[in-house]
Amino acid sequence: MNYIGIDIGGTNLKAGLVDETGRLLATRKMKVAGIADPAALAWTIHVLSMDLCHDFGCGLEDIVSIGVGCPGAVEIRGGSILYTCNLPLRNVPLRRLFHQLSDLPLYIENDANCAALAEYYVGGGRGSKRFITVTLGTGVGGGIVHNGKIFHGSNGMAGEVGHMSIEMNGEECPCGRRGCWEQYASANALKRQTARALSEHPDSILARVIAENDGHVSGQSAFIAARQGCEIGQQVCDQYIRYLTVGIVNIINIFQPDTLAIGGGVSNESDEQLLLPLRRQVAAHSLPCNYDKMTRIVKAELGNDAGVIGAALLGKNKRMI
Ligand SMILES: [Zn+2]
Repeated sequence: MNYIGIDIGGTNLKAGLVDETGRLLATRKMKVAGIADPAALAWTIHVLSMDLCHDFGCGLEDIVSIGVGCPGAVEIRGGSILYTCNLPLRNVPLRRLFHQLSDLPLYIENDANCAALAEYYVGGGRGSKRFITVTLGTGVGGGIVHNGKIFHGSNGMAGEVGHMSIEMNGEECPCGRRGCWEQYASANALKRQTARALSEHPDSILARVIAENDGHVSGQSAFIAARQGCEIGQQVCDQYIRYLTVGIVNIINIFQPDTLAIGGGVSNESDEQLLLPLRRQVAAHSLPCNYDKMTRIVKAELGNDAGVIGAALLGKNKRMI
């Protein structure tokens, strides 16, 4: 039996047909901008499900369930999207609308939680019992899986690790507070830190690396410059890893997961430049515990597919727990 996952992203809506082992068997992609209203979203999900079955050569009767992941707040029990920043949709009773078109069970979940579930089953968290993902992207996302269950808190909002404040009077965050971790540890924050170093050191190797990239500051610029022996680039990397460490140590001290996976574009940097110094600093700053009980810090493995695979596996997860 197979599952269908729908990942409603910032620009694209991705749909995937996934088997019991989390393997993607077929995928489809479309622009979210074309989806005008709640009924159109339900219809799109229905049509994409049939398209995926057609692509793979199976029928809807071979599908256990459909899972939908979206950024923002969802009402899991009722199957509604309460709020998402990507679509002009509020309080959408998606399950009810979808069931006017199909009898397939439909589950809905926050996209970061979907990614965590995918990594837990088939990615960096395989074999873990208490697992947390931290995704370094535009912001910093998080997902917590405890003994096979996504940890939602009392209201579905748990796991927003990017909005723990690490500086009481720090940088402003769109959430309305100051000093949120994602203002220091996201890929966007790294770009800001790199741009600041560039303006202060226009004659550095870092400046040359950025000039060679058509003047475009990327999340990789500082790491590339550091590899070329740039002291300024190395300082940016060191400072960024210190910020990363502060939040990760906070998470570990509260939750003590057995495994914590780092995802997002920044996690593609080499182990020598990112993971190894991060592990060293986290070990030095976490509360002491037996070495063999220390949280394993690993890279997430599923990249951009984590959202769609995790959404699909929501149905498997329901059967397991
Ligand atoms: Zn915030």
